[in-house]
Amino acid sequence: MARSTHNESLRDRVDPTPEQSSSRTGSYDAVVVGSGPNGLSAAVRLAEAGHSVLVLEAADTIGGGTRSAELTMPGYVHDVCAAVHALGVSAPAMSLDVLGPHGLRWVWPEIPLAHPLDGGRAAVLHRSVEATAAGLGADGSAWRRLFEPLMRDWPRVLPQLLGPVVSPPRHPLAMARFGVHALQPATLLARRFETDEAAALFGGCAAHAILPLTRPLTAAFGLMLAGSAHADGWPVAAGGSQAVADALAARLAELGGEVRTGTFVRSLADLPPHRIAMFDTNPAQLSSIAGDALPSRYRRRLERFHHGPGAFKIDYALDGPVPWDNDDCRRAGTVHLIGTLAELRAAEADVAAGRMPDEPYVLVVQPTVFDPTRAPAGKHTLWAYAHVPHGYDGDATGAIEQQIERFAPGFRDLVLARHISTPGDLHTYNPNYVGGDIAGGAHSGMQLVFRPTLALRSYATPNPSLFLCSASTPPGAGVHGMCGWHAADRALRRIESQ
Ligand SMILES: Cc1cc2nc3c(=O)[nH]c(=O)nc-3n(C[C@H](O)[C@H](O)[C@H](O)COP(=O)(O)OP(=O)(O)OC[C@H]3O[C@@H](n4cnc5c(N)ncnc54)[C@H](O)[C@@H]3O)c2cc1C
Repeated sequence: MARSTHNESLRDRVDPTPEQSSSRTGSYDAVVVGSGPNGLSAAVRLAEAGHSVLVLEAADTIGGGTRSAELTMPGYVHDVCAAVHALGVSAPAMSLDVLGPHGLRWVWPEIPLAHPLDGGRAAVLHRSVEATAAGLGADGSAWRRLFEPLMRDWPRVLPQLLGPVVSPPRHPLAMARFGVHALQPATLLARRFETDEAAALFGGCAAHAILPLTRPLTAAFGLMLAGSAHADGWPVAAGGSQAVADALAARLAELGGEVRTGTFVRSLADLPPHRIAMFDTNPAQLSSIAGDALPSRYRRRLERFHHGPGAFKIDYALDGPVPWDNDDCRRAGTVHLIGTLAELRAAEADVAAGRMPDEPYVLVVQPTVFDPTRAPAGKHTLWAYAHVPHGYDGDATGAIEQQIERFAPGFRDLVLARHISTPGDLHTYNPNYVGGDIAGGAHSGMQLVFRPTLALRSYATPNPSLFLCSASTPPGAGVHGMCGWHAADRALRRIESQ
């Protein structure tokens, strides 16, 4: 894949200050393997506590799932993985107070999310619950009844959702109110809606779980994603998601931390002397890298960690904006393409069962509608991926474009160039995306709460110097840095007790 356009300047900035550097002694308090948002957040938190930190990254550029690059044509900047920072915008690990001075700026779309239906109709999720309800006709009051209490509880619920889920709730009543709905399958909770619009809007958010929507707890994803759109509006990062990684790395450099790219870690012997090592990797990689430093029983449990369905992604350079036949879709940052909840339910069930649906669920982001800096004047980029079976090795291009054409006839005529990433390409690009699983591990069963193993301590391992800090730990997938943040807290307690 194309290299980041930001890399050279970044590497200059991450040189350590001489007073704080450990490179002279060659040993570090902490070595972090992997520079995804969680690895970098862990590194920053450890460095903020005064420790010397080195980050080792396999790729030539930093950022993991939060990189941008000119994937299609010069002058068109695409988000290689994450595009929308639904949770990152409110996560303490990515606070603008800290990262703003290092160049991070959010750009909000006029409408966070639109979900088109056949016949030019669309359900629209606005920042305001009231405005959303007003557009949902007969389901306006049902939407209001579900989301008004949740938004009142949001400041108390969100920190819990961004934390290790098994920690004791600090606001048990608010969490109980959330839990009553969240524990349900999305299809069950959606029964309160009479219209195609409201049911599809909610279902499309719930399908970010990448699970059959008949499974318990899938409603939690619908509530969390739609809730975050109401609370924070699903922004993109100005200039591209690379800005998140660059800002975290710049903050780390300011604290004296170091980053070394082009360094694939295969065993503990590849690490310089250190007190603790943090792994922004998948659980199987931790097992393989640590080898005998972890008990074989624990390693077997790491290796049993289950990866979910894959993603098939296409990035487009376009000659103009997408010609959606519904006007609201033209003003939305994210557009969910599937049609009705029944169609979504069938597609997600197929994917989970290992069958490629003819009409897959396609998630689309149109960043240049709100951030024109990413493409030449008048031109656009489009980010689209479909949920596909784990390790799918077919070509989903036709199916994805058919879904876009269904709601935006004439789309194909605008395509100047496309860059395709199959599940296998994603896995090659980042070893964490096993079989194209972009969530760092399935959110099914106990793995939603207990990641990576069925244990209360998610980040610590039986070896007191080794920690896992990737999206394979709570709170799971997404660019929010909170896995790294909590893992670093755990590691700090360990360092400080030594
Ligand atoms: C196509 C796609 C779309 C997505 N869309 C969104 C979105 O819109 N919003 C959102 O919030 N999230 C999205 N995500 C998910 C998000 O990108 C991830 O959940 C997030 O990046 C996980 O962060 P992480 O730090 O745990 O790991 P990663 O971001 O995966 O980073 C891990 C890093 O570790 C490095 N590494 C791994 N093994 C080694 C090793 N042995 N030695 C050295 N380095 C190593 C990798 O090269 C990588 O740079 C998307 C992901 C993909 C792939």
